[in-house]
Amino acid sequence: MDTVVIKLAVGLGLQNFIGWFAPVFLGMMNVVPALLVLFFYTDKSQTYNEYMSEKDSGKKPPDLQYDFIVVGGGSAGSVVARRLSKHFKVLLLERGGEPNPLTVVPGMESAMLSKPEVDYRYLTVPQNTSCLACNNRQSLWNSGFGLGGSSIINAMVYIRGHPFDYDLWSYFTNDERWKYKNLLPYFMRSEGYCDNCEHTKGIIPSVNPKFHNIEGELPVRPPPISPMVPEFLEALEWASVSKGDVNAPYYKPIADVTSYSQKFGRRVTTYNAFIDTILDKRPTLNVVKYARVIRVIFEPGTTTAIGVKYERFGKIEVAKASKEVILSAGAIATPKILLLSGVGPEAELKQLKIPVRANLPVGRNLQDHVGTFVGPFLIDKPISILPERDLNDDAVYQFLKNGTGPFTVTFARGVSLWTSTRALGAGEGEWPDIQAGMSSNGISQNFDQVLSELYNLRADIMKEFIDPVKGKDAFSFIVDYSRPRSRGVLKLASANYVDEPLIDPRYYGDAEQEDIRVTVEAIQRALYIGENAPAYKRLGAKLSPIPFPPCKHILFRSTEYWECVARQYTLTLHHFCGTTSMGPVDSPHAVVDSELRVIGTKRLRVIDASIMPFIVSVNTNAATLMIGERGADFVIKSWSIEYLPENEPYKK
Ligand SMILES: Cc1cc2nc3c(=O)[nH]c(=O)nc-3n(C[C@H](O)[C@H](O)[C@H](O)COP(=O)(O)OP(=O)(O)OC[C@H]3O[C@@H](n4cnc5c(N)ncnc54)[C@H](O)[C@@H]3O)c2cc1C
Repeated sequence: MDTVVIKLAVGLGLQNFIGWFAPVFLGMMNVVPALLVLFFYTDKSQTYNEYMSEKDSGKKPPDLQYDFIVVGGGSAGSVVARRLSKHFKVLLLERGGEPNPLTVVPGMESAMLSKPEVDYRYLTVPQNTSCLACNNRQSLWNSGFGLGGSSIINAMVYIRGHPFDYDLWSYFTNDERWKYKNLLPYFMRSEGYCDNCEHTKGIIPSVNPKFHNIEGELPVRPPPISPMVPEFLEALEWASVSKGDVNAPYYKPIADVTSYSQKFGRRVTTYNAFIDTILDKRPTLNVVKYARVIRVIFEPGTTTAIGVKYERFGKIEVAKASKEVILSAGAIATPKILLLSGVGPEAELKQLKIPVRANLPVGRNLQDHVGTFVGPFLIDKPISILPERDLNDDAVYQFLKNGTGPFTVTFARGVSLWTSTRALGAGEGEWPDIQAGMSSNGISQNFDQVLSELYNLRADIMKEFIDPVKGKDAFSFIVDYSRPRSRGVLKLASANYVDEPLIDPRYYGDAEQEDIRVTVEAIQRALYIGENAPAYKRLGAKLSPIPFPPCKHILFRSTEYWECVARQYTLTLHHFCGTTSMGPVDSPHAVVDSELRVIGTKRLRVIDASIMPFIVSVNTNAATLMIGERGADFVIKSWSIEYLPENEPYKK
């Protein structure tokens, strides 16, 4: 049986994971029939084939004239399609299909990431001041491909951000509706917080109902197990970073166990939460999978959007919307669709011979969080998750039977927000600007291969760095400067929609060199805590003695050494945003106005992570869901007079 499993794993391209994967896979074999049933019976979308067969049989085809077309069924698109379809006829077009069923297992995160069936795997253009240890100096940008978008592969962390993140948006757009206090009901509307349920009793205190809703569609909760989070919280308390609720307003450094979008230990994507639950009962919503939108169609001679052109199974199709086209294809595909539609920087479009509809800075203002792992810190107690030891049959059983155990967690287990000396000097002491997460993964036998596959890091470098510490229990911090100044650019590679865009993040490219300075400060602080906090001393925590190979010529642990590590071992946190930035209509930086309408066009909006004018100082999924809620509300308000029950603004 083992040989069959190994052959199967190799067939699936999982050879790197065989060490620990074989026993897991053996356990999984027991549930394969159930997973297959799940896979086929959860596929409830109305497909093109159904439509064609109805047409061929002379039956009336589904009405192809919609009020709204939503492009992209990811984090924001799922929310928008749900809210709008309560009032209107909506077509949701999604490039991918049902995600691989194994994406529901949080502990399979690294095995699923970078797999082309669920991940676009964009490669940036080669970088000069960062990503130096990556193959060809190109950062690998994972992005979810399929119903649920990036929520099918993300680390499931639910964190909203600081009030000032949004107050800044409000100030910049000159629109009070984007102030944190006015956005709170939109965060809360979709939150289904579960306090002290599903095995979490005792880990976190009751949350304040002023800031949490227990009835929203998206399950949010701390995971069933939190390996090494108690030590993390104790160590940070020692460093004057107190435990608190990161999803309530905070005005000083803070730490917490990460809350996940999860139920019974399983991943819940935004598509699961917002669409799967209603699709059968909502005839006004049609989801078409495998529909790759190419461009927006405008009424001839005008800038009024009337539909989209898309490709499906090699055929070019057209769908029409009588009210609006809404782009929710994410911060990479949304600007690409706009550019192909003639909305973007005039000179660039002309160069590619694309007729210009609106001259706007599409693709500018690209932002992301970037950082590095600080570690591994080796420990002498068996309390991290070491795949060969811990991801065993028993763990599979725990996961399937009780929704608990090590398969219920992604790598992100503890979260904290710190204030840099830059922030203190700038009078921003109440607005933490460093994010430091904790991952309690031990060093598996294939850790180097996993890291090099996930981040496009050079295999020879990672082997030299990791080989000597394989098999050890460990933890790491992942730190980033959460209000970076660098701005990147996204451009079309050609006028052909099959070519992926050129992405240039320009990490650490700010003239002031503030981004690298704060990142190095964050690394040094994490190192100090990792080696000196009593909670970690008790575990015998020591930074691995192996220097990062491309930096070994520099004095180990010196400031120059850490700067070298940051520039070589540069890791995206996958928080791409800002490429169709929101702003005042007369701003040279704005693509959409503060109601998310594309400036200079009619009946066309963007509602996804692309519209953030400034990246929030935490992970971006909760902010994107809120953008979905806020944006859908703008749309509903502009086309109807009254809310239907489900869409009423959240009231405490
Ligand atoms: C690996 C990874 C880990 C992350 N971890 C976290 C985390 O733990 N917590 C957190 O808060 N954030 C996290 N993020 C970020 C977060 O998931 C994203 O910010 C968020 O999902 C963005 O939502 P979106 O709606 O803008 O885009 P997406 O969710 O990416 O949705 C875009 C959708 O559009 C579809 N699409 C693309 N092109 C087309 C086209 N031409 N036609 C039709 N459909 C198209 C895509 O298939 C996709 O379904 C992570 C992201 C990644 C990639």
